[in-house]
Amino acid sequence: MLDVEALRGEALRDIAAAVDEAQLEQARIEWLGRKGPIADALRGIKNAPPDERRELGLALNRVRDALESAMEERRAALKASSVTARLAREALDVTLPGRPRAIGGPHPLQLAEDALVDALHALGFQLADGPEVESEELNFEALNIPADHPAREMHDTFFVEGHPGYVLRTHTSPVQIRAMRRHAPAPLRVVTVGRVYRRDDDVTHSPVFHQMEGLAVGEGLGMQHLKGTLYGLCRAIFGQDVRIRLRPSYFPFTEPSAEVDIGCVFCGGDGCRICKGTGFIEILGSGMVHPHVLREGGYDPARHTGFAFGVGVERIAMLRYGVDDIRLFFQSDLRLLRQF
Ligand SMILES: [Zn+2]
Repeated sequence: MLDVEALRGEALRDIAAAVDEAQLEQARIEWLGRKGPIADALRGIKNAPPDERRELGLALNRVRDALESAMEERRAALKASSVTARLAREALDVTLPGRPRAIGGPHPLQLAEDALVDALHALGFQLADGPEVESEELNFEALNIPADHPAREMHDTFFVEGHPGYVLRTHTSPVQIRAMRRHAPAPLRVVTVGRVYRRDDDVTHSPVFHQMEGLAVGEGLGMQHLKGTLYGLCRAIFGQDVRIRLRPSYFPFTEPSAEVDIGCVFCGGDGCRICKGTGFIEILGSGMVHPHVLREGGYDPARHTGFAFGVGVERIAMLRYGVDDIRLFFQSDLRLLRQF
């Protein structure tokens, strides 16, 4: 005689022990399937004594119903817990702050360049541009630096292999010639800024560096206009109280020429190590455009005069930000760059 109660107990334990749908399905096949003990027992009823058949049939049906509803409950419970587990696993805390993204900033040379160009924009200068690979004619001859001129040696030029007559420009001045030839004869005020190349490399020189240069051509322009422009430029860069000083100097492409000093930004003019006790720091070269250069640009020096000035962007950045080694600007060291 089949122990219906024992079977029921064992099946219920199996159902309760199922930890997922697959195990539950396995239990269903084992206990309620066509080859399971209940189906077996139901098929065997006909062999039981006639007075027990009805009772046994009822008992087996009750067990089957009980197991089916136990399975239904277990299935619902498993489903609920898997949803809960999944929710827990995929929880998203929308109140957490976002991950910070590293955003770059302008390079200190770019900042200095922008400040210089902005200051000249305000004075009516327009941006002009030229190539970094330049003809020797524009880089030297047109700027009154003929082949035998000693200034050529100072420029420590990079020549372009396989292209005689071409150099990496040693200054931004050839853009002056380009701008004059493009715009003559109208009054002209241009600013140019860009990379220039010379073969030297130490704490204050780099083989590639940046220059900014301004040029004005018109009728009746004199040193006073140059000085006024330089005042405006230096005030914009170093503050309203800046003092400037022009010293006579020599450049092939200007006559007369002047080097321009500003009152030392480190000691306020009292004299320090950086200004070597003079209270002044040299920042740029300037002068009245040489007649030869005006002619090369398409102007008649009898009618038009002009002034020009050039400044090293690195020099301005070093003074403005207190950086004492030019090479730091080219090393991409984030410890430096993050300070700007
Ligand atoms: Zn000083």
